[in-house]
Amino acid sequence: MKRIYLDHTATTPLDPRVLDVMLPFFSGTFGNASSVHWYGQQARAALERSRETIARAIGAEPGEIFFTSGGTESDNLAIKGVFRAACRKGNDHLVTSAAEHHAVLEPCELLAEEGARATVLPPDNSGRVDPEMVQGAITDRTCLVSIMHANNEVGTISPLVAIAEVARARGVLVHSDAVQTVGRLPVSVKDLGIDLMTFSAHKIYGPKGIGALFVRRGTELETLFHGGGQERGKRPGTENVPLVVGFAKAVEIAVGEMEQESARLKNLRDSLEERIQGRFPEVMINGHPSERLPHILNISFDSRRIALEGEMLLMNMDLRGIAVSSGSACTSGSVQASHVLLAMGRDPATARATVRFSFGKSNTEEDVDTVVDALEETIKQMRG
Ligand code: PLP
Repeated sequence: MKRIYLDHTATTPLDPRVLDVMLPFFSGTFGNASSVHWYGQQARAALERSRETIARAIGAEPGEIFFTSGGTESDNLAIKGVFRAACRKGNDHLVTSAAEHHAVLEPCELLAEEGARATVLPPDNSGRVDPEMVQGAITDRTCLVSIMHANNEVGTISPLVAIAEVARARGVLVHSDAVQTVGRLPVSVKDLGIDLMTFSAHKIYGPKGIGALFVRRGTELETLFHGGGQERGKRPGTENVPLVVGFAKAVEIAVGEMEQESARLKNLRDSLEERIQGRFPEVMINGHPSERLPHILNISFDSRRIALEGEMLLMNMDLRGIAVSSGSACTSGSVQASHVLLAMGRDPATARATVRFSFGKSNTEEDVDTVVDALEETIKQMRG
């Protein structure tokens, strides 16, 4: 059976060019980047070259890039780190949105349990947060606004420049989770005007377990870990040089090939969207019609017209060799509707009847034909 992978938002396979540059750092060039001898110097040089590559790609300075274990850690470091530095001065209020990834929502919830004030703004029905709402939520005690660059479930792109503007006008720091956007949209921390930004390698054909946090020079941030002082004390722990080198190569390739690949994926996505809408009148498209990542299509089956469970649908698609995601979280056997779709105003039954297709390098127009046919057969079978 030919397998088709349409879950590139969850993760991507390692690009062979990335693997090639990583391999020497597992064995020959294995030094600890903090060691003063030749081995350490080789590792340090590779680490700093990688930092420069990533900084250049996002319009930052190398000294503003801190390597972490991925998007989750970067989000935690940004939110808890800024909050802990600011709350000593009495600034104990955070603003975020209900459509954020759990790596942002849960640190905010934890801080709220510890006494912080957190305002969680509702997105509109396309998944966007209104900058005016952000403005209205900011108080004299707000230390941070955290709004993602683009949503991982529906692909909606935030009006980040406008959000950053209203926050800056009140002297409030802005963090944004850009895990899904680097290499897919132009990302410039300068143009966006933000202070902290989260990145992860495995969404762009890089290795898992490595990411970065951009922290604008001069931003006060407390570390979460304490130890050997690596990453200028912000993220102690021996640097994972092979993964860092792979991350930098993945960013370089993704940014270099972005324009062409995004246009190709958008064509595939639009073709699938058009054909699904033509065949299934009960389908609703989730996300912003135009301000949306080019490779994501998120659909729900309207519960007023058809009863479907997204998890069952995805399992049946998997049996046909097609890997998609339901956009919902399965916790201890109970299928929960996506918090993002609920926040966007979908009813729970419709939100549970959701499928997310996310395209990537291996996909072709032929895959679109196969997927539409498989979806039709699956739904016919599920309807009994
Ligand atoms: N933020 C967003 C928007 C994501 O899509 C993900 C991954 O699914 C993460 C954070 C977590 O990143 P990582 O898997 O590198 O910890």
